Amino acid sequence: MVKRVAGLIVVEGVICDGCGRVMDYLERYAYVTDEENLPNVRRLCEECSRKLGYLKVKHDSKNRELETFFISSSIDKVG
Ligand SMILES: [Zn+2]
Repeated sequence: MVKRVAGLIVVEGVICDGCGRVMDYLERYAYVTDEENLPNVRRLCEECSRKLGYLKVKHDSKNRELETFFISSSIDKVG
């Protein structure tokens, strides 16, 4: 399964496909597409993204923690 994850910002009324919550204005969310099944798009809030491994903590060059959406072509946990 080939999946792509993009980190996007809520502009209006986006509902999380994981928990069903309506996300807040300017909240970050993951936009996950399955390239082998293109109509299959999921929008996931930060909390659901963390649970599914799409939002990862990284460290920058000054060892500060950053949370970043994980870009991968090999994630197959969503479904
Ligand atoms: Zn959610």
